[in-house]
Amino acid sequence: MPLENVHGDPIFTKINKVKKQYEYLTEDIETDVAIVGGGVTGAILGYYFSKANIHAVILEKERIAHGSTSITTSLLQYELDSNARELEEYTTLDNVITSYKLGLKALDEIEQFIKEYGNKCKYEKKDTLLYTSKEYEVKEMKEEYEIRKNAGIDVKYISEENNPFSLDLKAGVYGVNAGAQLDPYEYTHQLLDVSCNMGLKVYENTEVMEIAYGKDEVEIITSFGYKVKAKKVIIATGYNTQRFTKRNFGMKTVTYNIATKPVKSFDGWFNKILIRDNCDPYNYFRTTDDNRIIAGGEDVDFYTNIENEKLAKEKYSILLNRIKNMFPNIKDIEVDYEYCGGFISSQDNLGYIGEDPNHKNLWFCLGYGANGILFAILGGMMLSKLYKNEIDENLKLFKVDRFDK
Ligand SMILES: Cc1cc2nc3c(=O)[nH]c(=O)nc-3n(C[C@H](O)[C@H](O)[C@H](O)COP(=O)(O)OP(=O)(O)OC[C@H]3O[C@@H](n4cnc5c(N)ncnc54)[C@H](O)[C@@H]3O)c2cc1C
Repeated sequence: MPLENVHGDPIFTKINKVKKQYEYLTEDIETDVAIVGGGVTGAILGYYFSKANIHAVILEKERIAHGSTSITTSLLQYELDSNARELEEYTTLDNVITSYKLGLKALDEIEQFIKEYGNKCKYEKKDTLLYTSKEYEVKEMKEEYEIRKNAGIDVKYISEENNPFSLDLKAGVYGVNAGAQLDPYEYTHQLLDVSCNMGLKVYENTEVMEIAYGKDEVEIITSFGYKVKAKKVIIATGYNTQRFTKRNFGMKTVTYNIATKPVKSFDGWFNKILIRDNCDPYNYFRTTDDNRIIAGGEDVDFYTNIENEKLAKEKYSILLNRIKNMFPNIKDIEVDYEYCGGFISSQDNLGYIGEDPNHKNLWFCLGYGANGILFAILGGMMLSKLYKNEIDENLKLFKVDRFDK
């Protein structure tokens, strides 16, 4: 029995009222593409397929955006979980740089979406900071800065001398316009609103129980026995894939988050940018439009720890002390929400997008790694093209079987 991926009191489903509820499936239907999972990934896929005039249906077993989407910190940035040199053990430097650039492209896509349909999800463009407070990591930061700069990416090097933050920084890479943040619950609903106007169909409380693979189509059996016939099925079920494949996609951890009450000022937090430290496992920090701080990280093994509430309390307290130490001039930091959940990152820090090697009509779009939302955007762009037999050359970076021996 898989353990649930979301525990505690997630900020995004608590501060938002339920936007809209969708019907459950009450008849047999046919479509071009069936998307399994109504989180942010499913909604992004729904948007790109509808935009490309491909009939698509989303099947969600519970409620829209109540899975990992309700706890994602939604720091949108092109950089990966690890630094470029560390990733060379699993991929090439060229691939890392290509994925940085793809991340920037995905950021542009979100910006275009907001320009076209309005900002209904607290979207804000942001600069980013990757930093270390350890003297022995200064060389590593300089190297990461050089790699990005030589690739033509807009970065600045920050040292103790020009540190505009109150936090203890020995070295850092400052990304100009390198990120964004948003409210993932509202973004998911906005995507669905826009896409339903273009023909997308969404069914909540409709669990996919089984998929039968034919030569040119799939037949999906849902919880009340109704069937969906589709040419392709795309699994966008986040960290729950066991029903559809035996494949192990990476190591699963629990990642812990706290969100504070609104604070009065952000003294010491230059430009309220997105921050990630260079620790292993790393911690990540952002602000919200109503002046809260969200801090996350402290990852540990999932299966042995997800039910351990005492450990979770310790982790929340570590995160609280961490932000208090980083920003001593912010005097009114108090916790409002505490939550944690499952997280998977792959060896090369990229998600999985594309065909299953055994069933050509079974596709995956799994935004694993810290950039899950940007990977989902790339998945939406690439898979909606693939459906029309246009192969994006960068799809190979995300291949489901790329680590198979
Ligand atoms: C704490 C945390 C912080 C993160 N921070 C970031 C970040 O800062 N930036 C970033 O880009 N990414 C981040 N990620 C990754 C990102 O959250 C994920 O990529 C993304 O939220 C997952 O969305 P999803 O739609 O793929 O999965 P989910 O939101 O889990 O959605 C999957 C849906 O599938 C449904 N489902 C499952 N099985 C079935 C079935 N059989 N039939 C029908 N429906 C089914 C589930 O009910 C669920 O609603 C973070 C993840 C976590 C956990």
